[in-house]
Amino acid sequence: MEFSSKLLEKAVQEVAQLPGIGKRTALRLVLYLLKQPAEQTLFLTDALQNMRNNIKFCTSCHTISDFDVCEICNNTSRNHKTICVVEDVRDVMAIENTQQYKGIYHVLGGKISPIDGIGPSQLTITSLVNKVKNDGIEEVIFALSSTMEGDTTNFYIYKQLKDLDVKTSTIARGISVGDELEYADEVTLGRSIVYRIPFENSLKNS
Ligand SMILES: [Zn+2]
Repeated sequence: MEFSSKLLEKAVQEVAQLPGIGKRTALRLVLYLLKQPAEQTLFLTDALQNMRNNIKFCTSCHTISDFDVCEICNNTSRNHKTICVVEDVRDVMAIENTQQYKGIYHVLGGKISPIDGIGPSQLTITSLVNKVKNDGIEEVIFALSSTMEGDTTNFYIYKQLKDLDVKTSTIARGISVGDELEYADEVTLGRSIVYRIPFENSLKNS
C-alpha cells in the first residue's frame, strides 16, 4: 500500500495491529477520524491512555477493576464462601448479566494450553488454591468454556482442591461443547449456574 503521507501511514500501521483489522479497514477507520472534529480523536486516545495507565487488577479475584479490590469482592451482601472460576473479565460480565449468581469470582487469566505455551504457573491457580485453604471457601464452581483447554484446566484445578474441604461443581451444559461463555444467551447461562452439577459427575459423563 503506497501512502501519500508518512503520518497517515504510521496511524494506519498502528490501527492495523489490532486483531481482526487489516490494513484496508485500518485506513477506512483513520480516514473516518480525519473527517470528524479533532476532539473525537482526542477522546479516543484519552480514553485508551487513561485505561492503560490507571486500570487495576483486583488483588483478590484478579478481574479488571478501577480499584485495588473490585466492587464484587467488596460487596458484603454477596456470598464470599462461593467462588466461580472463570477465564477472563468477559465471563464475569456475562455471568453478572444473568443476575443468577450471588457469589464471588476468581479470574484465571486464561486456560492451560500447551500449544500456546500457557502452563498452570501463568494463571492465577495458586492464588485460588490459597484462597480455598485460608478463607473457609465452601464451594468452587468451574465455569470455563467446555473446550479441551477448559476441561484440562478444570481437571488440573480439581486435582489441587480434591483433598481440601470444599465442594466442587461445574456449570450444567445447556451450552454445547466449544461454545464460549460470553456468547451463551443470558437465560441459558443463568440456568446452567443455578442447576450446576457436582464436578465428579461431569467426569463420569465425559
Ligand atoms: Zn475482585
